[in-house]
Amino acid sequence: MAQSCSESSPSANALRIGGLVPFTATDYPDLLSAVIFCQGCPWRCAYCHNPHLIPAHGESSLPWPDIHQWLATRQELLDGVVFSGGEPTAQAALLAAVQQVKQLGFKIGLHTGGAYPRRLQKLLPYLDWVGLDIKATRQHYPAITYTAESGDPAFESLALLQEANICFEIRTTVHNALTPEKELLRLAQELKDAGVQKWTLQSFRGNGCDNNDLILSMGNSILNEPLLSRLRSLIGDIIVR
Ligand code: SF4
Repeated sequence: MAQSCSESSPSANALRIGGLVPFTATDYPDLLSAVIFCQGCPWRCAYCHNPHLIPAHGESSLPWPDIHQWLATRQELLDGVVFSGGEPTAQAALLAAVQQVKQLGFKIGLHTGGAYPRRLQKLLPYLDWVGLDIKATRQHYPAITYTAESGDPAFESLALLQEANICFEIRTTVHNALTPEKELLRLAQELKDAGVQKWTLQSFRGNGCDNNDLILSMGNSILNEPLLSRLRSLIGDIIVR
C-alpha cells in the first residue's frame, strides 16, 4: 500500500479494532497494560498468530468511543496501553487514537512489523515503547510475508527507532523451515551491521496459527546452545523466549 507523506490524520473513531485484552502483564515490559488489536495487515505471514486480523475489515469491530470511555475508568488500574494487531500502523487513524490515550496518562506501547515507517515516524513522539518484529534478512522477507520488498520498510523502521529517544525491542520469530540456521546467522550479521546490540528470539508456537503445514513442520527448536553461541558472537545480548 502506498504511503503518502502528507496524508491527513483521520479521527480516532475511524480506527478499526478487532479485539481487546483488558489486562496483561506480558505485552509491555514491566507494566500492567491493556492491548488493543487493530484490524488489517498488508502482509501475509504464514506463521501469523492472528490471521483473523489480516483482512482490512473483520467480522466485527469494537467502536473506538467505547474503548476510550472504558480506558478512562482504568487510569488507576493500568500503567499502559499497547496497540497491536494485525499491523496497527496500517491505519492512519492510529495517530489520533494514540494521542487520546496519551492524554489519559497511559504509557503507550506499539507492536509493529514496521510496514509503514512514515506513519511510525509521526507516532514516535507519543510512544514510550515499541516491539519491532524483524522477520528475516531484507532479502528473505518476501519468503515470510509473501509481499515483495517488505524488508525495506521494516529495516527503515528499525533505523527510525535507533535514531529516536525511545525504548524498543527487536524480536524475530524462529521457525525451522522459514528461518533456518543459515538465515538466522545472516540476519544476526545484518542486524549487527545495522548497530543492533540486543535481540529477542522467540520460537514459533502453533497457537493461533491456521497453517497446518507450518505447525506440522516446526520440529524441535533450532535454538540450541551451539547456534546461540554463534549468534551471540555477533550480537552479545540475545534473549530467548
Ligand atoms: S505482519 Fe504480523 S499481523 Fe501481519 S501477517 Fe505478519 S504476523 Fe500477521
